[in-house]
Amino acid sequence: MISSAACNAVYRGRSFSRPFSTFYGAQKYTYSTQTENQRYWTSIPAWKDVECKEFVSYRFQLRHTVNHAKLNKFLSDALPDTLAPSDNPQLQHIQTKQDFIEDATSGLEAAPMAVRLTPHILSRINWAAPLDDPIRRQFLPLRSSILEDHKSLTLDSLDEEADSPVPGLVHRYPGRALFLATSICPVYCRFCTRSYAVGAPTETVFKSPQKPSRKRWERVFQHIEKDHSLRDIIISGGDAYYLSAEDLHEIGERLLGIPHILRFRFASKGLAVAPGRILDQTDPWASTLIDLSNQGRRIGKQVCLHTHINHPNEITWITRSAANHLFANGVIVRNQSVLLKGVNDDVETMGNLIRSLSEINIQPYYVYQCDLHIRGTFSGFMLPSFVVDLPGGGGKRLASTFESYLDGISTWEAPGLPGEKGRKRYLYYDPIIPGGIDEFPRISDGESTG
Ligand code: SF4
Repeated sequence: MISSAACNAVYRGRSFSRPFSTFYGAQKYTYSTQTENQRYWTSIPAWKDVECKEFVSYRFQLRHTVNHAKLNKFLSDALPDTLAPSDNPQLQHIQTKQDFIEDATSGLEAAPMAVRLTPHILSRINWAAPLDDPIRRQFLPLRSSILEDHKSLTLDSLDEEADSPVPGLVHRYPGRALFLATSICPVYCRFCTRSYAVGAPTETVFKSPQKPSRKRWERVFQHIEKDHSLRDIIISGGDAYYLSAEDLHEIGERLLGIPHILRFRFASKGLAVAPGRILDQTDPWASTLIDLSNQGRRIGKQVCLHTHINHPNEITWITRSAANHLFANGVIVRNQSVLLKGVNDDVETMGNLIRSLSEINIQPYYVYQCDLHIRGTFSGFMLPSFVVDLPGGGGKRLASTFESYLDGISTWEAPGLPGEKGRKRYLYYDPIIPGGIDEFPRISDGESTG
């Protein structure tokens, strides 16, 4: 945990029973890009003198988060006058700082998600070559790279609102439900499937937010208490990182007290976007999570953290230290990645990501959509399941279990779902090829897509 001592001293031994560096043994197996104790944020002019202890604190991350209002100034300071050229023909005309700022400003006007970026994540972007940077691509849209949406896309493509018996509780699978405790996240991902609710309204999307109100939560808890078939609850949003430690405690205690609930997990992108919070002694979020996990273990219930890391560059020595702190305190952490073009859709990057996660005892749990080359390369228990989250609310299905595939359209069934959903056929479309949009057939009755 962070103390008043210098970061080096803290990370080199205070939190752990042996020096930090020995956790990893031979460094050749560490694929994430930062070495121990490197002040990787000094590439951002405004933060070049910020000391480790300050950067790691969650207060610093919140205070210096860049939103729409601050973006222009941040880009003006961080970008060089001339940018490294892009490999993407659509972006090759963007050559200067001014070109980039204009394209990003225009991109945000068309985007369904607001912009929000923590100092940690901003420090992981190579601002000299931002056009093809895998972190920039996830969070900051450029107008010139936006393709027309598929005509079957809807904002709530997973049909979550239709599967919600009370506002903010998605109950799709037998025995399991998703509690949307808030609709705020520490960052906003461009590819979010919950863009109907998450984040501030944008110029193109009016949101249906799930506010963290006690009145709404009470209806959710009462539904969970009454439905004795439920065993498993996912607390998400939004992002559980945006809940206070008191909120976390309140939700955790309530769920631990429900006899038929045996497992719950907090879903958070926190380890990817502001990992220092886990180590910040002035912030009780991590100690609350650890307490809940220990309480759960004592009464035979599993309390976990599910995180969302998509690229090895998101993992720094602070992330590794935070993950090891959770591991040392018995918290199970699993990762869910999304397969993203130009981010992690090659075997080397995906392999490095899985390897980096495995090294810090974060279980690679899911990769949304598939790359079969990974199988056979990793131990079975560290191999993520490659899944498709079916449009129309069919739930997550293993990518290899499609019923048919023709002309870029795969069909799926979800027989484990109750009622009509278990009898429906679901369609999943390959990404659109520019100019090829009209070749896709329209949806017919009894089929679902998004
Ligand atoms: S962290 Fe999750 S919920 Fe939040 S914007 Fe990203 S994908 Fe959506």
